[in-house]
Amino acid sequence: MSTILTNISQIKQNILEAASINNFGEKATLVAVSKGHSFGLIIEAFNAGIINFGENYLQEALDKKLHLERFAIQWHFLGPIQSNKCRLIAENFNWVHSVDRIKVMKLLNDFRPSNAPPLNICIQINSSGEDTKSGIAINDAQSQLTGLIEALKELPKLKLRGIMSVPSNTEDIEQVINEFKSMHMLYAELKNQFDTVDTLSMGMSNDFKLAIEYGSNLVRIGTAIFGAREIKAKGGNN
Ligand SMILES: *Cc1c(COP(=O)(O)O)cnc(C)c1O
Repeated sequence: MSTILTNISQIKQNILEAASINNFGEKATLVAVSKGHSFGLIIEAFNAGIINFGENYLQEALDKKLHLERFAIQWHFLGPIQSNKCRLIAENFNWVHSVDRIKVMKLLNDFRPSNAPPLNICIQINSSGEDTKSGIAINDAQSQLTGLIEALKELPKLKLRGIMSVPSNTEDIEQVINEFKSMHMLYAELKNQFDTVDTLSMGMSNDFKLAIEYGSNLVRIGTAIFGAREIKAKGGNN
């Protein structure tokens, strides 16, 4: 078996185990984060049954999408969004997990082609409070979410699916658990208010089992599937 196939089988097994010990009765969708990896590895993962792929850098993602047109892949955008990227993101992705401003939502809506299904949106929450992280601050999330959601009512080409976070980069498990718990509470409230909301996007290679135990139903996994990234993240104009 190829390494990627082995890794994916192992991860799927871990996802099922974690889901069986949480109290939420939900399965978790696996999004393979392919940033920094070549077309060949994406095809290997696709052949191992993965259809959801996540990318952070627009240009890198568009190159891949062009090469992989014949594969029925669902593309997820995970990276920070500048206004000038909104048109290409709205035209090329099925999901955007990193929405955190009304301005960006409006642009994504305006540029979403009318013949395409609504763009699936997760609002990014900064659950760690670290300055370096994108997303709306967890302390203030309730009120800011209300504003974003009010705006969404006027944006028919966007479909609110849920919230996303990247937790603190720490060895302190309790800290991470607290962040997962706060995210799950916020998600539960949002789900009560909106029937389109069904996605709590949290958990990466290092913490996806824990994330699922605390209610995540979509995990974004790169390194544990593909190994260390080959292509360094490009700064600036990507
Ligand atoms: C890179 C990235 C991932 C995947 O991280 P791994 O640790 O390689 O699994 C998940 N989510 C986001 C937002 C990322 O930027």
